Amino acid sequence: MSFIHNWLRSDIQAINAYHVPASDDMVKLDAMESPFPLPDELIGQYLAYLADADLNRYPNPSADDLQQTLRDLMNIPNEFGVLLGNGSDELIQLLALACETGDTILSIEPSFVMYGMIAKFTRLDYQGVNLNDDFEIDLSATLSAIKAHNPKLIFIAYPNNPTGNAFDRKSIETIISSTNAMVVLDEAYYAYADDSFLMDIAKYPNLVLLRTVSKIGFAGLRLGLLIGAKDTVSELDKLRLPYNINTLTQVSANFLLQEKDEIDKNAQAIIDERANLSASLSAINGLVVYPSQANFILFKAPEANKLFEALKNQGVLIKNLSSAANLDNCLRVTVGSVEENTLFINIVKAHYG
Ligand SMILES: *Cc1c(COP(=O)(O)O)cnc(C)c1O
Repeated sequence: MSFIHNWLRSDIQAINAYHVPASDDMVKLDAMESPFPLPDELIGQYLAYLADADLNRYPNPSADDLQQTLRDLMNIPNEFGVLLGNGSDELIQLLALACETGDTILSIEPSFVMYGMIAKFTRLDYQGVNLNDDFEIDLSATLSAIKAHNPKLIFIAYPNNPTGNAFDRKSIETIISSTNAMVVLDEAYYAYADDSFLMDIAKYPNLVLLRTVSKIGFAGLRLGLLIGAKDTVSELDKLRLPYNINTLTQVSANFLLQEKDEIDKNAQAIIDERANLSASLSAINGLVVYPSQANFILFKAPEANKLFEALKNQGVLIKNLSSAANLDNCLRVTVGSVEENTLFINIVKAHYG
């Protein structure tokens, strides 16, 4: 037996690593990235800004400028606290680290797989409550599970990944009011959604929000934020590793996230394309297309594996969820540029035509 197999925790040996498929030269519609690059006219200015960064020094530990930039971009009121993470994934991990041995993390399923994975990494108990058949929160099952397991943290993605819908607001309010758990609404897709719980933070002391810049055009920066009551944020901040937001991310985000008009325009373009893509998919016989408030669409397709492979063979990568629980024959496609979406839809049409 090799050294590492003797040495490593057996529960870690037993899991499959978070799989990121090879995508060189593929049209990448699998990871909810934005198709829009930095506009040409900004590149010179951006490089000059970067050249000013003092890479021989540690980053600004609290990233004050960047905090303000994010507050302006996302209209975050001054009375709320903001905690920055190396992606919102890091903040999910930080919340798990704030729990005690034996605590439970609860989420709904299917949802973002990192909630369960991070619970495992941090040796916490994890409970998933199934959504009902139309991917809405099963309120009575969720309330029963909260009663039975007394979770410390409840993660709800709003809108949800991978289903794309935003859950009923009343159900979420009932959950928040029914528990002493910290309820974490993960608004990674806020830019594409009709509603947000941002302003509800003032009303519910046990509510915090996660957001990220990954799904609005800046996945490469690795920058997420937690928004909550000021005292909540200042206590959680003790768990943050010093300098977790590196200088290149701080400087880049400070420059790039000032372009609020451009970011909003790109989000609107994706929302418009989402409607087109959804209509085109719905017009194909045999497909079931689920409503989306995110920058991706979940759909059910006959013999989904074969469609997935046909797309891959023709250079288009989407996400195959067909073997996930309760997602039989389901695939998830990111809304890309007009050209990318057209290429995708033509292959799907030809496959079933
Ligand atoms: C993509 C995604 C994230 C991860 O965001 P990062 O900031 O890139 O770590 C978090 N939550 C949900 C629901 C997501 O879909």
